[in-house]
Amino acid sequence: MDVSACAPATPVAGGLLQITVVADGDFVIQLTPAAKAITEKTTNATPKRARVVQFRVSRNVLIKSSSFFQTILGNRPNLANVTFENKGNGFGYALEIWLRALHNGVHTLPNNLKATHIERAWVAIGVGEQFGFAPHQIDKIKPWFLECYQIALNGGLSPFVACCLAFPCNVFDHAEGFMKLTKYLAYHTNGTIFTHNPSSFQALNQDARILDGPLTTARAHIQSILDKELNFALDKLHQATCSCRKETAFDYEDALRALDCWPIDRAVQKYPLAEIIDELDKFEFTPKNINCESGACAHDFKNSVNIAMRKAKFAFDGLCLDCMERSGIDHVEGQTRQAFVAKNSPFKGCWDIDCRYGHGRASWYYSWMGPSSVRRDILIKYREEKKALGITKGGRRTRRGGRVAKDNAAPAPARLISMSIKTQGSGNNNGGLENDDRDADDDDEFFDAEDASLGGLIATDNADMLDHDAVN
Ligand SMILES: [Zn+2]
Ligand SMILES: [Zn+2]
Repeated sequence: MDVSACAPATPVAGGLLQITVVADGDFVIQLTPAAKAITEKTTNATPKRARVVQFRVSRNVLIKSSSFFQTILGNRPNLANVTFENKGNGFGYALEIWLRALHNGVHTLPNNLKATHIERAWVAIGVGEQFGFAPHQIDKIKPWFLECYQIALNGGLSPFVACCLAFPCNVFDHAEGFMKLTKYLAYHTNGTIFTHNPSSFQALNQDARILDGPLTTARAHIQSILDKELNFALDKLHQATCSCRKETAFDYEDALRALDCWPIDRAVQKYPLAEIIDELDKFEFTPKNINCESGACAHDFKNSVNIAMRKAKFAFDGLCLDCMERSGIDHVEGQTRQAFVAKNSPFKGCWDIDCRYGHGRASWYYSWMGPSSVRRDILIKYREEKKALGITKGGRRTRRGGRVAKDNAAPAPARLISMSIKTQGSGNNNGGLENDDRDADDDDEFFDAEDASLGGLIATDNADMLDHDAVN
């Protein structure tokens, strides 16, 4: 980037670049070259940013925007300038972005400061934190980041892009992007790395680890759903008495193994969940003996696998910044526990009240940043309320019975309809949810969710086909 494209920047002799952020500025921030020489391409005839950069700024704006400058200028009211080391790799650009946005608004940024590389977002966070602008003033440059996000995604979403952008989405409070990218990471990566920091601000790596725990457990949750549903047909065969059940079970597993999708815990070591789910679409299996006396071998295995795929696909919507903030008890001062619980509880079965983007219970659960004992209490209370309303026992679907045909069912109360949002089953890691009753609750909700998420594309007559319990 050629900084001379920026109108108010004036390169002068001696490698000094003066940038007038405000014409009547009464203070100068100077950046001196990094202690370690920056490697420059000898083939590049145009010099990069001058070695020494001066920003003419307003003392008042700095004091208002940053406790860091408040301290410096408060202690030395007559100070006319201050010098920092330019740490290279976009440091000066990031400082200029901040200063221009804070003084004149983000819309005044010249084209050369556009975030054409994801790295710029990280540097902007690092520089913002160093000078005390972030996180409090992060909104001032949020539109700049949103453009950066858009440019990056225009190049296509990939695990690398998601790893680079998820954490900046968190810092810049971009709820939609954060939800989308964290969902993508849960489904499309299978390692332990959820973040890539392309900048030299390595100190941010520690902050970015906030994603590791929730995404690891969310992924385990999706995996457990896939595993449980693919095991459904095997469980049925284990309950059967025909002599062919063992061969059918073996052949079913063999067909899954042929796709390299079984056992699931081995498959996830090799492939991301999204790839496994896609591969299962190729599943074909016809049992050798479909006329046996038990009927178990005539099970619709293809349909079972389809159910597993669908359930896994809708198991997790991504992490929710609003739920994370709301449940982060440390960030709320003077709040009673009762108020905290009320604020974080579902309303009429909806887990995304006051959230910018809709999501189910899994997102609420894995976005939780407060004490896990409170989360457990909220879930217990929710389950008790459901039971009191007869939703789990006498509702649209009994625990192990088939789905009530819609034509014959009483109209669903509003509360049931509001529950038709994607929700979760119990995962491996959600402590306190592993008992059978919990599973029954989750199953009930999931099937409601499936109807909603498939947008009514499923004919009423076929509704039973979604239900593993209804498929012999
Ligand atoms: Zn059989
Ligand atoms: Zn939320």
